[in-house]
Order: sequence, then structure tokens, then C-alpha cells
Amino acid sequence: MEKVINSMVNKITIRKQLSFLILCVALIVIFLISMLSNILINKNFERYVVQQQEKKTKELIENIGLQYDSKSDTWQNDMIHAIGMYALYDGYILKIYNNHGISIWDTEKHDMSLCQSVMNQIVTRMEKEYPKLHGAITTKTYPILRGENQIGTAVLEYYGPYFLDENDFQFLKALNKILVSTACISFLGAFVVGSMIAKKISKPIINTVFMTKEISCGNYEVRLEEKTSIQELQQLVTSVNILADSLEKQERLRKQLTADVSHELRTPLTTVSTHLEAMIEGLWEPTKERLESCQEELSRLTHLVKDLEKLEKAESDVIKLKREPINMRELMDSVLMILEAEIYRKQLRVCILGETNPIFVDRDRIHQVMLNLLTNAIKYTKEGGKIFISFMDQKDAILMKIEDTGIGISKEEQPFIFERFYRADKSRNRKTGGSGIGLAIVHSIVKAHGGQIEVISEVDKGSQFLIKLPRKNESNT
Ligand code: ADP
Repeated sequence: MEKVINSMVNKITIRKQLSFLILCVALIVIFLISMLSNILINKNFERYVVQQQEKKTKELIENIGLQYDSKSDTWQNDMIHAIGMYALYDGYILKIYNNHGISIWDTEKHDMSLCQSVMNQIVTRMEKEYPKLHGAITTKTYPILRGENQIGTAVLEYYGPYFLDENDFQFLKALNKILVSTACISFLGAFVVGSMIAKKISKPIINTVFMTKEISCGNYEVRLEEKTSIQELQQLVTSVNILADSLEKQERLRKQLTADVSHELRTPLTTVSTHLEAMIEGLWEPTKERLESCQEELSRLTHLVKDLEKLEKAESDVIKLKREPINMRELMDSVLMILEAEIYRKQLRVCILGETNPIFVDRDRIHQVMLNLLTNAIKYTKEGGKIFISFMDQKDAILMKIEDTGIGISKEEQPFIFERFYRADKSRNRKTGGSGIGLAIVHSIVKAHGGQIEVISEVDKGSQFLIKLPRKNESNT
């Protein structure tokens, strides 16, 4: 036991395990999505930057070409100056030569220190952020065209194969920030949702564990009110509730049976014991009558024990009925044969009506039902009385009625006569020798066959016991 408890202490709770698992899955998914989107964004952005640079260079060269006046073979120096400076701020050092190789513009010559500072800024930034690019200052020469004719040559010096300016970096940084924040929010969301799901799944299980513990401690009244949308868990909760129900019922029956049996045993045992004591101590003469009275009590006890055995058998056989096709009328005839002597002694008139098709029932059990009902009818009917037995065939059941013109049962007592040890009018029954188990056995057997039993009775007029047995084709249930 200690071992079991120790091993349970070392285990992680289902809630923690589930939360952890959900969180891990969420983390992996978030990480993969972030990684992939980062790679994709960077790749596309690089392509976009390269395209933009090509476009910019093309426009720059075209713009330079526009500054040439072919008629006077001169260049608009002011504009060339402006273009050169703009290009420098964009990260390009520009040199322009005419067709004779004479320099028209050279940004480096114009402002060497500015050129160095701009290029240094770009190189430092790129080497820091894109060390794997292994970039370097690159020089590219472009022909300057005017229509079909070349009017000069432009040389561009820049950080190649491509570089990102300040705005590009800002844009990428903002994008990364958004990605990180989305990942953090998703992680938080996954944590909250994961905990909620884990709680939803684990709560009914935890409650079921608690309930089973309570049951094992003998507290059968606990029930789970849990409602869950998870089918299997709902089934588990329902099954445990059913289990608790049946255990509670069993426990009640057990207690009731113990109480009933001890109560039933007490009276005859006390009587026999006091009689014998008195006789041993010499207070009473051991006369024939007194010894007979003791024997009577003892035979009542034997009878009671036999009845208890029958009841126990009837109740435990509930699940193992041996069904076979039975002709009820024939079975009733065999029961009447057993009781023939008693019927004759009391000068009773017995009448049987109706025929039925065979029905699948347990022969011995139904025999017991008929025997108990007829014994009662004979026992509680005065001499010269009548007993009517009738059968009726229905589509999916058989009706059997046993009616007598006996002493009847009062309305108040009718609801209890099928309970164990219940005897209507106790003083009267002590004389008749009944133990109050016969009808409990009848009730158990009829219920085991899926049937119903009903009583209609009036004091001093008689009683009717109606039994309905459903037809079943299976030979076993
Ligand atoms: P018992 O062994 O006392 O007859 P039962 O369980 O067979 O026990 O019956 C319970 C009680 O129901 C009886 O004590 C009796 O008072 C009443 N009872 C049963 N059948 C009849 C009947 N046919 N007529 C009148 N009373 C009956």
C-alpha cells in the first residue's frame, strides 16, 4: 500500500502533464511559424532591395544622360552636381567621364571626407547586420546613352552585392518586433487555452478519483454532478455514478438482510432457549407439549433458513436464467399435483382457464413462482373456498392470474407484501407459519424474466395476483 502511495506521489498530475504537452506543441508551432516567416520575409526583402537598387541605378544613369546638351557638347554642371550628391546620400559614389575620357564629375574629388563617412556608415552597418553576405565596395561601369549613341561613361562605387539603407533597417526591425510580439501573445494564449483545456479534461477525472476513494472508504452516497462535453469522460462519470448506485443498493440490502434475519431468528431462538433453560433448572416439567412447542419453533427456523436459501438463489440466479420453451398450463398442472393433498384437506375448488403457446422461461424458477402463489392462495383461503387460475396469450407476453376467495390483504399492506420478511397481520401469520419470503422470491424471479407482478385484493373477499411475462426468443439471457 505504502509502495502504491509512494509511486503515486512521484507521478505528475494529469492537469500538469496536459498543460505541459499543449504548451510544448504550441511552442514548437510558434517557433516554426516565426522561423519560416522570418526566413521568407528576409529572402523576399533582399530580392526587393536588389530590384530597387537596379531600378535606382538605371534611373540615375538615364538622368545623367539627360544633362548632356549634344548641340553644344556640354553638360549641365549644376544638375550633375546635384545628382552626384543625391547619389552619395543614397550610398553611391559617382564618377562621370565623357567620350574622350575627361572627368565631368567625381564625388570623391568633390567631397572626399563625406564620401568616406557615408561609405563607412554603410560598411559598418552591413558587416554588423549581414556578416554572412561578405560584401565589399564594388565598382560598376555603365555607358551613358542618348538615344542610340553613347555620350559618356558612369562609374558607380557602392557596397555590393547589395546594401540596406537606414529606412530598410528600420522597416526590418519593426517587422521583427511584430513577429516577436505575435509569438509572445500566441505563447500566452496557448498557455491560457492549454490550462483551460487541461482543467476541463482533468476535472472530471480528478472528481471521479475522489469519488472512487470515497466509495472505497464506504461512503456510497457521493455522486458526481459533473457535466462534460467529452463523450468518454461523460460515460466514465455516468458509469461511476451507476457503480455507486448499485454499491449503495447492495450495501442497503446487506444491512437490511442482516437486520431482518437477526430479527427473524431472535424470536424462535429466545423461545427455545428460555423453555430449555426453565426445564434444565427444574422450573418446568419437560412435558410433551413443551417439547413439541420447542420443536415447532425449531422447525420454523429450519423453514426460514430454507426460504432464505431459496431467496438467495432467486436473487443470485437473476443473471443466469436457463430459458427453455415452456407450456405454462402443463407446468401449473404439475404444481397442482404437489399441492393436491392440501387442496383436498381444505376442500378447495380449483378451476383453470385458458391455453397459451410455449414461452421461453426458466422452468424451475417459474415453477417456484406458481408454487409460492398457490401455496399462499391455499394457506389464506378458508375451507370450501375457490381458487381460479387463468392464462392469456398476448402478442409479446403471457398473462397469468391466480385468484382466491381468501381473507384478502388490506390496502395499506398491499405495497409491502413483496418485501422480504413482510407478513401482513403478524399475529395471524405466526399461526400460519409464514416467514414472509415467498412473495419476495416470486417478485425476484418475475423481475429477472423482465416481467411484472401486481396484486388486487380486498379484505375478506379474496386476492388476485397478476403476472405478465414477456416473450423472449433467446434460450439464454
Ligand atoms: P408468507 O410466508 O408469510 O406467506 P409471503 O411473502 O408469501 O410470506 O407473503 C407475504 C404476506 O402477504 C403474507 O404474510 C400474507 O399476509 C400476505 N399474502 C400473501 N398471499 C396472500 C393471499 N393469497 N391472501 C391473503 N394474504 C396473502
